[in-house]
Amino acid sequence: MSDAASYSIRDGIAVITLNNPPVNGLGSVLRPGIMDGIRKADADPAVKAVVIIGSAKAFSGGADIREFNTPKMLVPPSLPEINDAQDACSKPMIAAIGGFALGGGLELALGCHYRVALPRSLLGLPEVKLGLLPGSGGTQRLPRVVGAAQAVQMMTTGNPIPAEKALQVGLVDEIVPGDLLEGAIAFALKAKGPRRIRDLKVKLEGDPQQFFEKVRADVAKASRGFPAPLEIVACVEAAVGKPFDEGRKEERQRFASLVEGNESKALRHMFFAERQTGKIPDVPDDTPLRPIRSAAVIGAGTMGGGIAMNFANAGIAVSIMDMTQEAVDKGVAKIKANYASTVSKGRLKQDEMDKRMALITPTTTLEAGKDADIVIEAVFERMDVKQDMFRKLDAVMKPGAILATNTSTLDVDAIAAVTKRPQDVIGTHFFSPANVMRLLEVVRGKKTAKDVLATTMKLGKTIKKVPVVSGVCDGFIGNRMVEKYGQQSLFLIDEGCSPAQVDAAAYKWGMAMGPLAMGDMAGLDIGWEIRKRRYVERPNFIYSKVGDKIAELGRYGQKTGKGWYKYNLPERKPIPDPEVEEIIQKYRAENKIKTRPIADEEIVERLIYALVNEAAYILEEGIALRASDIDMVYLTGYGFPLYRGGPMFYADTVGLKNVLNSMQKFQSGYQGAVWKPAPLLVKLANEGRRFND
Ligand code: NAD
Repeated sequence: MSDAASYSIRDGIAVITLNNPPVNGLGSVLRPGIMDGIRKADADPAVKAVVIIGSAKAFSGGADIREFNTPKMLVPPSLPEINDAQDACSKPMIAAIGGFALGGGLELALGCHYRVALPRSLLGLPEVKLGLLPGSGGTQRLPRVVGAAQAVQMMTTGNPIPAEKALQVGLVDEIVPGDLLEGAIAFALKAKGPRRIRDLKVKLEGDPQQFFEKVRADVAKASRGFPAPLEIVACVEAAVGKPFDEGRKEERQRFASLVEGNESKALRHMFFAERQTGKIPDVPDDTPLRPIRSAAVIGAGTMGGGIAMNFANAGIAVSIMDMTQEAVDKGVAKIKANYASTVSKGRLKQDEMDKRMALITPTTTLEAGKDADIVIEAVFERMDVKQDMFRKLDAVMKPGAILATNTSTLDVDAIAAVTKRPQDVIGTHFFSPANVMRLLEVVRGKKTAKDVLATTMKLGKTIKKVPVVSGVCDGFIGNRMVEKYGQQSLFLIDEGCSPAQVDAAAYKWGMAMGPLAMGDMAGLDIGWEIRKRRYVERPNFIYSKVGDKIAELGRYGQKTGKGWYKYNLPERKPIPDPEVEEIIQKYRAENKIKTRPIADEEIVERLIYALVNEAAYILEEGIALRASDIDMVYLTGYGFPLYRGGPMFYADTVGLKNVLNSMQKFQSGYQGAVWKPAPLLVKLANEGRRFND
């Protein structure tokens, strides 16, 4: 037997113990051992039953991700072959589940005839999160065990269920309160005999046709653009209406087509991209980190409050400072209201809220936070204000503290330059709402020390963000790109689109919301202020002034009840406004702009390729470390559809040559001068390569 799967006999029960840390991934070292164990037990007349058991932490986490895309994945036996042997076994087979049984891990457990679990175990089939479906009989066995409705629920959301719930729905036969192996052996000794799951009938209440019609409609609504959930429903339908082997065949076919599809490739890309962001070529993994036990946040406004919550959520004490008692009180009241709303929704316990609030210390002096290990400044977005603040922080903060700025556009190096410790200065660009959005751009200044960068990246993970390194440039990665996206949205309006048409095309393509609705949400005054600054700083940048016409009227978006749309506040649903249409028409007439009908396809191409082209410059300049980091920025900070994998991955799937051809076509169109393809894009397109190679 292999070390990864040991075999022993106790009280006439064969015990196959999985031992492939950290999660008992069903890799090439483990599968043969499991198979040997099953065969040996089946052939031994002294064996009455078989128990498969993992560790207390993990029965099995499913496929071994370290072997993804390697020949090791194909080493026999496959999991379906093991499942066949489980079905064929003439003795009762029991899965003893400690910790989690996920994906292929649960399929292995479903291949067993019975399941027992520790009270804290979690059971689930999360394949849908990677755009796939359970490919080793899971879609056929789970409904036979828990019924069609519960199986659809578990497999289309991918969310695991705890042991208690698993017991209720029949996925677990017994919960073992004490020693798992003892409990499993006791269960095995009294087990009635083999019970092949494949022979059970699927439970379904009511008429199957009506049931599946409703399920399809619900699932389609909840899974906009993702094919896997509906494919899962189809497999469950097969489990209900067809013999097991036919259902398995259908599952295999549907699995194979999902694996080949762009949506699953995009989600798998994202899975690996997230693991890449922490790798910084010139900063070794073992760089010593500075301990972060306490934090200070300066500015208790929109961002400061959310940032402070991140620390409190992670159990890190944090002080929050503003200029006046009134401002701090307002900021803290907002934090409290945020937590209270989560408590009222049942997603946070009151005593947990109290604990978190107790970690937050309001103050009006910088001195109160002087001993913090990191200070994050979130005051007004003005260079003079920021520099003044950093001089003060330099004077009060303890030596070795990390001095971070949440600036969204200003030069981090210029901020660092006013201190005597530019090596300790870094940018931490949170996204609004800062307690919710997962993206954190970590801005590495020219003088930022490696340990400061490594510590901030680690801290990002501790506070449950996706930290992505960006170099210093105007707007960093995300906002620098979004400027070009916004620019195109305004040109499209100039040329004849209504705001609703642009937004609808972007939404239909998969964006969480269109660019104009996004502007209304963020506040149109912010973009307007930036543009006014740009007109001076970068006179060559071409903008449509149609957005200014809207903002000049005090139409700042949701906060004023009017922007590109009108709103029946407090409802936030955008309603097209004839007044806006008039403003746009007047603007077109004054500027003698000819309009034309524009198809959704062109709208989407212009918006998305504008992102892609700027991203190519960003990559070429070394502002982003890798294409997949740019994808992560858009997937976690800008509502980019997950199943498209981010702008770079999407461009790769379209083919860079095709992207380039479209850009060249746009060059002869309205404001075509802005379409200068980035040299990197041209080079890769001509070489037939991809951004994400
Ligand atoms: P805000 O106006 O809501 O809050 C700023 C707070 O800083 C105010 O409460 C103000 O009283 C306080 N403040 C100003 N000067 C101070 C000083 N000298 N000492 C102490 N407190 C002072 O602004 P915001 O939206 O929270 O933005 C803060 C920073 O975060 C800006 O740099 C902004 O660019 C950046 N940012 C904002 C967003 C966003 O969506 N709002 C997103 C990312 C980054």
